Amino acid sequence: MNRREFLYYSAALLLGQMAGGQKLAEAAYYEPMIYKRFFQFTEYEERPGTEFLVIHHTGFPNEDKDSTAAAIHKFHQQERKWAGIGYHYLIRKNGMIEQGRRPEAVGAHASHYNKKSVGICLAGNFEIGKPTEAQMDAVKELCRWLCRKYDLDARQKGVIVGHRDLNDTLCPGKHLYKRLQEIRRFCADV
Ligand SMILES: [Zn+2]
Repeated sequence: MNRREFLYYSAALLLGQMAGGQKLAEAAYYEPMIYKRFFQFTEYEERPGTEFLVIHHTGFPNEDKDSTAAAIHKFHQQERKWAGIGYHYLIRKNGMIEQGRRPEAVGAHASHYNKKSVGICLAGNFEIGKPTEAQMDAVKELCRWLCRKYDLDARQKGVIVGHRDLNDTLCPGKHLYKRLQEIRRFCADV
């Protein structure tokens, strides 16, 4: 670097700092658009920690269909007799991210693993169909933000897992399961 380049470089660096360059660089981590829902829960327990993210599909039998967080909340509360929707986030087929259970609460989505994990569910049955690209984009953005929020390293084994890695289930379906590595790479590659 010659003297003139050095001066340009120094000025650019200074201007960058003055303009909040640091903040701009971090913008990619900001919370994605999440549609807040205000469901009533019958009980509430705060999660003692967050060590990993668990990916699910709704897995409606024999049909790859869209679902709303409201419908799942009603089903989990009335049929399963749970406190309310078990997932923290539901991602619709159009890519809309809906808030399910409160982010700080213990979820009900992976037996024995709920106290230290966040449950993210994509609407569909991915043993039959494939996740939409809008859903893939949304789950990547959401996971990247959650990794930042909870200080998780997506490259570490066991940080972003499929439900089938933990319990005896096909969830999140073979067509989503095979794309989990893509999500991990997206989260780590920033
Ligand atoms: Zn599941």
